[in-house]
Amino acid sequence: MHVRHVTNCPNDAEYTTHRRRTNGALIWQLYTCRRHRRLPDWHAPSNVRRLDPSGPPQPCGLVYDHRSGPDVVLSHINGWMTVGTWTDAPVANTDWAGRLRDAHRFATYTRQKELAAAVAEVTRLAEAEAWDQAVALLAETETRHAPS
Ligand SMILES: [Zn+2]
Repeated sequence: MHVRHVTNCPNDAEYTTHRRRTNGALIWQLYTCRRHRRLPDWHAPSNVRRLDPSGPPQPCGLVYDHRSGPDVVLSHINGWMTVGTWTDAPVANTDWAGRLRDAHRFATYTRQKELAAAVAEVTRLAEAEAWDQAVALLAETETRHAPS
């Protein structure tokens, strides 16, 4: 399980929502305040529920992500990084190495030096199958880019 913070919001969460696989296993669970209830990449309207206010406080933007390392990498690239596809070299969305190359090219093209450096390091870690470190670095980078 990977921990992510997809907002830089100082509030405690009031709501939670999640996605599950057809077998019932959790894919991810998100906690948010009222203002961040509808984050574009993390919106599952059918199951938003209010948290019990007497329960332990959770910060807004906390995500427990239960996906595999490669699937989490793809969710970063397709989510907050908003990396599209390049028509001169289309890459399948399941090809994490190809999508990381797309992300590096995108970050370089859009002059996001810090993101390009992070993606280069994530690529090195992923190729060494150091998925926990790759995903942790992406989570740190995501939080720096997250809405407040
Ligand atoms: Zn919030």
